[in-house]
Amino acid sequence: MKSIPAFDYLQDYAEQRADILAAVDRVLGSGQLILGAEGRAFEREFAASLGAGHAVGVGSGTDALIVTLTAAGVGPGDEVITVAHTATATVSAIRSTGATPVFCDVDRETALMDTAAVRELLSPRTRAIVPVHLYGNVVDIEALRAEVGGMPVAIVEDCAQAHGASLHGRAAGTLGDFAAFSFYPTKNLGAFGDAGMCFTTGGNANAEMRRIRMYGFEGMEPRALREGINSRMDELQAAILRLKLPALESDVQRRRTLAARYDEILDGRVRRVATGPGVEHGFHLYVVKLPRRDAVRAALAQRGIGTGIHYPCPVHLMPAYGFLGYRAGDLPATEELAASVLSLPLYPRLEPEAVERVCTELLDVLP
Ligand SMILES: *Cc1c(COP(=O)(O)O)cnc(C)c1O
Repeated sequence: MKSIPAFDYLQDYAEQRADILAAVDRVLGSGQLILGAEGRAFEREFAASLGAGHAVGVGSGTDALIVTLTAAGVGPGDEVITVAHTATATVSAIRSTGATPVFCDVDRETALMDTAAVRELLSPRTRAIVPVHLYGNVVDIEALRAEVGGMPVAIVEDCAQAHGASLHGRAAGTLGDFAAFSFYPTKNLGAFGDAGMCFTTGGNANAEMRRIRMYGFEGMEPRALREGINSRMDELQAAILRLKLPALESDVQRRRTLAARYDEILDGRVRRVATGPGVEHGFHLYVVKLPRRDAVRAALAQRGIGTGIHYPCPVHLMPAYGFLGYRAGDLPATEELAASVLSLPLYPRLEPEAVERVCTELLDVLP
């Protein structure tokens, strides 16, 4: 029987090959490979897809976090509250600014930041909070704001997994002060390489983000007004992403339909990570919680079903972050999820029959 991979971009490529190669040819023949018309157009189109706001293209989702946090004034000596049940990138970006991450546990059901636990983590050094819209589920940013009260703390949404998701009808990325998107190939909107986007609804930070992504320059004048980095989305990725953006909404709708099919078949037999109240889930990932997860995963692999674990080791227990002083047991819900979550195959081109087969095999191999 045919195997079902956890992720596959080749089908997308086959469908759009002629358009993509034409876009690549157009860019390579344009004489401008960095900071040209394609990048500017994609920034405009991406911002418009979220409603009003400013988008600044960068080299990756990690860089989008670094640039937005820096624009929010985060630097050495500051604390940034985030979660440990996330991609390592969230935390490595915070460290790149020189700030110290402070970990909040997650809600056992939604796997999202437990906003009620944030208040006791706030300190006079807290400069920002990075809620992660994990799997395409959306953190309740209003609840988070209520915890912060009037403190001067920026909310930077990690939207790497949240393209197309919303909360009470408002798009993820427009709820906080800043947002960082990734276009890593597996994401809901994927480039053919690395790319990322900074987003803000506040007008003032737009120019600052542009300076930070290129050495601190104002436009092309090579004279740094502030310290910056070098992280620009290249014209090739921008041109390809422009081709793919119009299909994002229907792709996410397709993910929702497939997720509903998983729900229907697995109902009552396998529990998944719950959708938060008021959330229109982006279903970047369809994640179930299983006892003896690793044995189930190995059995599925033997039957040709690819799965993923997001994430097997919470960041606070990784060797690199030992210096932060966290121990096993400090974040109980985070640690429980790390041991039990399994991501089933989910992407727009996946056939409903494939979902049915994954469910059949999963129910068959359950202990
Ligand atoms: C993918 C991801 C990132 C980083 O994005 P890159 O483009 O790979 O740098 C950050 N946060 C989360 C939650 C992610 O899933």
